[in-house]
Amino acid sequence: MPNNPSTKSGLGKFLGRLIDKQTQPSQKQQPTTEASINYSLYNVEAAEWAIRNTGATYSDISLEECESIGQAVSSFVRTRGFTVCKVKKLLSKYFDEERAELIAITEITRAYAHAAQIEGEKMKMEFPDVKVVKTWTTNNDDQVCPVCSLLDGREVGIFEYFLDGIFIPPAHAGCRCWIASSTALGE
Ligand SMILES: [Zn+2]
Repeated sequence: MPNNPSTKSGLGKFLGRLIDKQTQPSQKQQPTTEASINYSLYNVEAAEWAIRNTGATYSDISLEECESIGQAVSSFVRTRGFTVCKVKKLLSKYFDEERAELIAITEITRAYAHAAQIEGEKMKMEFPDVKVVKTWTTNNDDQVCPVCSLLDGREVGIFEYFLDGIFIPPAHAGCRCWIASSTALGE
């Protein structure tokens, strides 16, 4: 698996910075645990899933709005240099600024988490005897909510829930967490 430096492996940090810019600077900037995710492997699946499913989680939006979310998230995933701000801008056509940003962050989080989940499930299919796990990672900054804080670093089996009702990020609207799936060798 070649490592592509141009991928969005710093996604969490990236989303974190976006928020920091618009709110108070974070007081306790601890080094974020960089998830060793190769996002380039996930991109296509994440994008395709995003196109199909992203908007379905919003009951109060039109089909057009729903599709706009899927397409904007897909562009982020597929296009090098496509930023969260651009996603937000695309969505600003349909939503007010605050909601556009919230949707952008939440849905990018969802698409990447889903892709990591799929990757882990594939791993499990390929090596059924090996334990495959997923690990929750937060931005570890002041804006992480209590639930996500609790989940930070938690490792569960690939088919397990982190908490009741929380299978993968986002845990809530605006969640910036991500997961990495890996084999738990030695366990
Ligand atoms: Zn979170």
